[in-house]
Amino acid sequence: MADQASSSSVNNEELERAIALKFSCPTCDKYLYPPIGQCRKGHAFCPKCFDRMNRCLFCLSARSRTRCSVLEQLNEALQFPCRFANRGCTFKTKSSEIADHEVRCEHSVLVCPLRFNNCDWSGRRAQLIAHCLKTHPMNIYFSPTQQLLAKKFNDLKDRKYFILFNVYDSWFRFNWSLDSNTGTVLFTMYRLGTKPTQMKFGYEIKFVNPTQRGNKVVLRGICHKLEDEDVVFLPDKHVYADYDVMIYYCDAEGDLSYTVSIYRSSAFGGIS
Ligand SMILES: [Zn+2]
Ligand SMILES: [Zn+2]
Ligand SMILES: [Zn+2]
Ligand SMILES: [Zn+2]
Repeated sequence: MADQASSSSVNNEELERAIALKFSCPTCDKYLYPPIGQCRKGHAFCPKCFDRMNRCLFCLSARSRTRCSVLEQLNEALQFPCRFANRGCTFKTKSSEIADHEVRCEHSVLVCPLRFNNCDWSGRRAQLIAHCLKTHPMNIYFSPTQQLLAKKFNDLKDRKYFILFNVYDSWFRFNWSLDSNTGTVLFTMYRLGTKPTQMKFGYEIKFVNPTQRGNKVVLRGICHKLEDEDVVFLPDKHVYADYDVMIYYCDAEGDLSYTVSIYRSSAFGGIS
């Protein structure tokens, strides 16, 4: 019986789709995939949600130690449609692998990562580069080292600046924010999206004193992963500098030029 369930896949597409949709986690609305945890009364959850809960969210009964092997075998036998099927995606795979596809699915809809620059664009992932080139041509870069200029940096006021890097087959969002009250400038470089990668990245920001070329300051940080792009700062995942110190690196016009580089971590001698 068990062997049959795992080896024979269902052929009727409609039926398969209907069953696949039943396999959704009630907490996160993603597909369930093995190990499927359940409460003592049989409410089933995806492994991520199950690991996080002490009691069932619905009936408050305790977590069960037994897994439902029939559910898991049925789950393994099914092909799950991409979440963007209604937008034209025909891709299907195992439920444990669909998330991997969905983050890079051409039909996925995303909001512009430069939303803080007053942009309310949303569209397909495949159109993001075209959108940025058209709407934010000065805020998107395709090489890992970039010379940048903050105009009138000597004018002390609250400012936030965002740009995108599309390098190493990944998206990065660089930000600096000047808080005029504290006189602090915070810098972040986050890797966007949930695409899994073994690679680690770091970044470096270099300021050179325009009148004394040998006098420079270098800030370094890790490119942490940012899953929710509405977030500007992850707690403690930034580097900072004093405005008073940075002013020293402005030119006669008060403009601050600096270089930003993104590295694979091996170039840093191993960021973990
Ligand atoms: Zn879940
Ligand atoms: Zn329950
Ligand atoms: Zn898809
Ligand atoms: Zn935009």
